[in-house]
Amino acid sequence: MKYDRQNAKAHSRATMRGIWAAANTPFNEDGSIDEGGFRKNVDHWVNDLGIDGLFVAGKQGEFFSMSVDERKRMFDLAVSAVGDKAQTIMSCSDQNMDVVIDLAKHAQACGAEVVQDVITHVDFSRRPFVLTGEFGDVYLADTVIICTGATAKSIGLPSETLFRGRGVSGCATCDGFFYKDMDCCVIGGGNTAVEEALFLTSIARKTYLVHRRDRFRAEPALLDRLAKRVAAGQIELRLSCELDEVIGDETGVTAVRLRKAAAEGEMIDVSGVFVAIGHQPNTTLFEGALEMNDGYIMTGRADPQSQTMTSVPGVFAAGDVQDAIYRQAVTSAGSGCMAALDARRYLEMATEERIAAE
Ligand SMILES: Cc1cc2nc3c(=O)[nH]c(=O)nc-3n(C[C@H](O)[C@H](O)[C@H](O)COP(=O)(O)OP(=O)(O)OC[C@H]3O[C@@H](n4cnc5c(N)ncnc54)[C@H](O)[C@@H]3O)c2cc1C
Repeated sequence: MKYDRQNAKAHSRATMRGIWAAANTPFNEDGSIDEGGFRKNVDHWVNDLGIDGLFVAGKQGEFFSMSVDERKRMFDLAVSAVGDKAQTIMSCSDQNMDVVIDLAKHAQACGAEVVQDVITHVDFSRRPFVLTGEFGDVYLADTVIICTGATAKSIGLPSETLFRGRGVSGCATCDGFFYKDMDCCVIGGGNTAVEEALFLTSIARKTYLVHRRDRFRAEPALLDRLAKRVAAGQIELRLSCELDEVIGDETGVTAVRLRKAAAEGEMIDVSGVFVAIGHQPNTTLFEGALEMNDGYIMTGRADPQSQTMTSVPGVFAAGDVQDAIYRQAVTSAGSGCMAALDARRYLEMATEERIAAE
């Protein structure tokens, strides 16, 4: 069976009858792709569990960090392992890359120059602004839109890394539907953790909420809703407990081991582990240059007409880097559009002012 874009699109339009699985790519501890583990996963799902279709996803949450060759390799591996059994195999990454490539082409057609670089230094104190890339390339800009995103914090256990994308996730809203009628646990004690646990009650069979302290930091309204779900038996609390180990096999996560002060570790059988201990906006680069709140770039205060302008006129921010609440693809894309409109307006006004001064 070959990857067939027409076929894939037809299936994505249909309601996808049958059972589907997202074949996320497992990784070895050293960061290399675990090809053997991936083959075993898809083989088990299709041959043992009777899954009809596979989405071959990339490294979860970091789809684009895999090279095109790596993505093709994972797709070919799935085809060679189960191509004669699975009704359809779709490469989620390929589809995502199609969107990215199409968008880049569209931007280029509109006159944009696309440059791949990692910005390591910014100087917003002079005009034009100066940005320096990792190999020393210097970019001058009359306006800058920052959209460097936010990274979900991790606990730091090797087993958490090992099973990331195979049962460990940083986003229940995004990945929760993979765990329908299964048992899951959420790690954390703030608003996000409580919200994730509440969200999972509509999908998972049971959700364990594991918090290292004896009380939550979440808002009272959320705690009221939590208490109702606990009373209904949909959520079980594990307080004063820490995640000690994620346990699993070639199929993914099977359990977690918890650590409790001065007590025996408890094992809970779960298929999904949602680590909800916060996000770290990728803003180290802008420290001292822009006003921030808890690491998120603050916007919309310098000019009430420009919701995405930062504390420096001409510098705008969009997406997760300035959004501690929603952090979704569509909200990020929407705020990106707002920033583009704001930047264009800023440039037009700057040009008018310059002409008036001449
Ligand atoms: C596991 C997971 C699953 C998700 N699933 C969903 C989902 O199903 N639906 C949904 O709506 N949302 C989902 N999300 C959330 C969604 O991915 C984000 O909200 C969205 O990608 C944020 O877009 P962004 O452009 O702000 O940041 P990002 O997509 O994080 O992009 C930031 C970019 O900036 C680049 N960058 C960072 N620093 C620098 C630098 N110094 N120089 C140059 N480039 C830099 C990064 O390499 C990256 O490419 C998921 C998130 C995760 C982690």
